[in-house]
Amino acid sequence: MESLWNDQEAAAFGTDPLGQRVYSSRLLGQHADLVLHGGGNTSVKAEEKDFFGEPVSLCYVKGSGWDLATIERAGFAPVKMEALMKMAALETMTDADMVTQLRAAMTDPAAPTPSIEAILHGVIPFAFVDHSHANAISALTCHADGADRVQQCFGSRVLVVPYVMPGFILAQTIWEMIKDRDLRAEGIEGLVLLKHGLFTFADDAKTSYEKHIELVTLAEKFLAEQSGGASPVEAVAEENLLELAQLRRAVAGLRGTPVIAKLDASAAAVGYANLPGVADFGTRGPLTPDHSIRTKRAPAVIEGDDIDGSLSRYAAAYAAYFDRHQKGETMLDAAPRFVIWPRRGLVSLGGTVAEADIVADIAQHTAATVQLAEAAGGWEPLPEQDIFDIEYWELEQAKLRKGPARKVHQGKVALVTGCAAGIGFAIAESLAEQGAQVVGLDIDKEIPEIMSRIGGIGIVVNLTEDEPVQQAIDFTVRRFGGIDIVVSNAGIFPKNEFLGEMTQSDWDRTIAINLTSHQKLMNKVVPFVKLGIEPSIIFVGSRNFKAPGPGAAAYSCSKAALTQLCRVAALELAPHKVRVNVVHPDAVFDTKLWTPEALQRSADRYGMTVEEYKTKNLMKVEIKSKDIGNMVAAMAGPLFAKVTGAQIPVDGGNDRVI
Ligand code: ZN
Repeated sequence: MESLWNDQEAAAFGTDPLGQRVYSSRLLGQHADLVLHGGGNTSVKAEEKDFFGEPVSLCYVKGSGWDLATIERAGFAPVKMEALMKMAALETMTDADMVTQLRAAMTDPAAPTPSIEAILHGVIPFAFVDHSHANAISALTCHADGADRVQQCFGSRVLVVPYVMPGFILAQTIWEMIKDRDLRAEGIEGLVLLKHGLFTFADDAKTSYEKHIELVTLAEKFLAEQSGGASPVEAVAEENLLELAQLRRAVAGLRGTPVIAKLDASAAAVGYANLPGVADFGTRGPLTPDHSIRTKRAPAVIEGDDIDGSLSRYAAAYAAYFDRHQKGETMLDAAPRFVIWPRRGLVSLGGTVAEADIVADIAQHTAATVQLAEAAGGWEPLPEQDIFDIEYWELEQAKLRKGPARKVHQGKVALVTGCAAGIGFAIAESLAEQGAQVVGLDIDKEIPEIMSRIGGIGIVVNLTEDEPVQQAIDFTVRRFGGIDIVVSNAGIFPKNEFLGEMTQSDWDRTIAINLTSHQKLMNKVVPFVKLGIEPSIIFVGSRNFKAPGPGAAAYSCSKAALTQLCRVAALELAPHKVRVNVVHPDAVFDTKLWTPEALQRSADRYGMTVEEYKTKNLMKVEIKSKDIGNMVAAMAGPLFAKVTGAQIPVDGGNDRVI
């Protein structure tokens, strides 16, 4: 591991203690082998003047909810040293009292709540303190002779701290160890917390950071020697996307909410999943207690082809683990957060894409570190009880509860066709606003950029071609684990196509896009939708189906046939609990196609004003793209949970339709 320190960059952050603290915290955050997603914490002590001009000793501690890699000055909470030292000397203190007193001791009430390790940072008698959960420290200390190995690796440069619960008890334990010693005189450079992580410290930012890098590098070398230079095993994945969708749905069932499943089929992930004995050492425990909040104590392992059975056994084992250790807490859901799947790789599961991605990073580091630790003498992480105490720790549970309220389509995956503009875009946007991960297919080259505006993924596809459509579906399942909502919308509207004048190629093209491409999409996507979560297919028809006009035979016929396709699909898919409905919108005018000039021309043709033309329905209301978008999002949701085969007009009322 190399130091990333650069004097010029460091100076740009400001030469004051907090500026240097921000810079070196970000450096620490850049090493994924040291800290992942909010893990680790840092601090700096400074002598300042308070609001009234009185001198005050402060400890700026990383705020909870901030990530070291991107932290700013505002991410550090200024806590009075006097209060930290008083707290360290207490006999006992509850977690809730600790948080209250830490907040009360801040000189800025608007600052974030300081890390739960604030007291520990305070008692270490150096200006800069750096703490990480380095992979190499886990692999070194998660071992029966962890303390001996630390001595062999670092000699007397560090103090060894046996595992105790993080927070007040850890701070108190360390304060007892160091209060009567002179760490400077003894040349102590760090603390190794067995089965937890590493602290280094110094009076300047660079030394504290570089000691961290140096000690972790020593641990890496030690492990390389112990393991005989073993490198991770690699293997090629055997892909089965239908089984992936099946696994995702089974996990969602255990969790009680839809989940995103991220497949890691890299050579390293498959190599790990294929290791003989992985079901044993791969489920002994997390790298550091903190991870259990995101990953639970252990992943699930799929045995052979028995996906549902393996997951049920995992859930039963989780309930038994809860029963063994609970002291009146409420059990969390029994679904795994990641899955070791021989031949396939690792699958990470989250309520959102962001959550699944974070779990995937942790799973990847866990696989590499556990494998190394096994090769270097045996992986022996914390016992169950200690992990349980963290997993069900009130303070940690509070962190998870802080997230925003659930959206109606959160965790669901929606495939929308023809969504570069107009109704299609409005549908994609409404689904995304309500929490769905949208994948949009369109022939428009701009579709990737257009979908990225709503947090979706756009794929350029000609929907009349088979192979690209299959590839787009496979990509979606590989990336998110399945497909729950399909909105089959792509269509064209050729104008002024009277029967005696239209060309055969115009008819053929309209039928190919407005009808046959939908049938082809169904052919490829239905096997996945059958394995979806609260699955729903919505076709975008047209008011023209029931109220056709002259000069649009191909369009009207294609929409009529599409409606019949919807009805057949509803009949076929009802036994699989897949709902299939069609929305019949009237024309919408709030799209780029309808320039003021085009609107005026059309209005003139009917002898109407533009306003009359836009509202020519019984209710005299203008139908907007977003009206259709919101209707489709509703049809995909719980309001329509028991509706299939329905045709929903969104047209302001039309006497010919009614
Ligand atoms: Zn820690």
